[in-house]
Amino acid sequence: MIIQEILAKSILTRSNIPSVDLVVNPYVGCEHGCIYCYAEFMKRFTNHHEPWGAFLDVKINSPDLVKPRGQYRGKNVLLSSVTDPYLPHERKYELTRKILEKLVPHQPSLTILTKSELVTRDIDILKKFKDIDVAISISTLNEEYMKQLEPRASIPSRRFAALRKCKEAGLKTHVFISPIFPYMTDIEEIMRYAIDFVDYFSFENLNVRPHNRKRVFDFIEKNRPDLLEKYKTIYNTPHDNSYWDLLSDKIVELSKKYKIECVNHFHQGGFSK
Ligand code: SF4
Repeated sequence: MIIQEILAKSILTRSNIPSVDLVVNPYVGCEHGCIYCYAEFMKRFTNHHEPWGAFLDVKINSPDLVKPRGQYRGKNVLLSSVTDPYLPHERKYELTRKILEKLVPHQPSLTILTKSELVTRDIDILKKFKDIDVAISISTLNEEYMKQLEPRASIPSRRFAALRKCKEAGLKTHVFISPIFPYMTDIEEIMRYAIDFVDYFSFENLNVRPHNRKRVFDFIEKNRPDLLEKYKTIYNTPHDNSYWDLLSDKIVELSKKYKIECVNHFHQGGFSK
């Protein structure tokens, strides 16, 4: 892992993610190294040629860039979109923690999105936000698959334990079931597992793009060769969304069955983690 400390020019970026005004990314790159990650395009804005997940630029001055202006109040702020706010190196640098401390007086509408149990370290600060939503993203409960897909993220049981702790501390929580791998991600199983400690669920389909296509298909071929043809059908016919349309209907049914809000973010782009 190549780690370097850098000075950032700004820390708040306008966002085109639905319902998000601003994003905060304290790091460039992501140690979690998920094989499907959509944020790999960030390499274009760096001098890095290493594989995604093999480098991390630490925006060492990022807490100082949260300015005492009114620009955050009433805004939907997401931490983070193209990295994870609770990477292993966050234990050392504490950038996310320091940024949160600086944001408290501004009281933005804050969403935390992570794949790490480290989020519980900051419960004391997160409780100071009046409008806060803590989310973990998860795509499988199968640890063997997870370790191949998201090699340095917390294992699913630890992510859930962390989210439960956030809920018990009085924070609003949700599970972002993302990315959904066709025929593999069992969304009902995940919902049943987490329903006692979340306020709602949200969902995102797996987008296969040129940069992640080989890695995704290699993963399927290695672990579920029986699904290979089905994946080719889904991802080689770009205008046929029938698989996702059926799954959208199922999510509506599950929402009624379990009497819980389900927010569908299915799309054909790739906007976040
Ligand atoms: S999907 Fe999220 S956690 Fe995984 S590598 Fe990308 S930014 Fe990091």
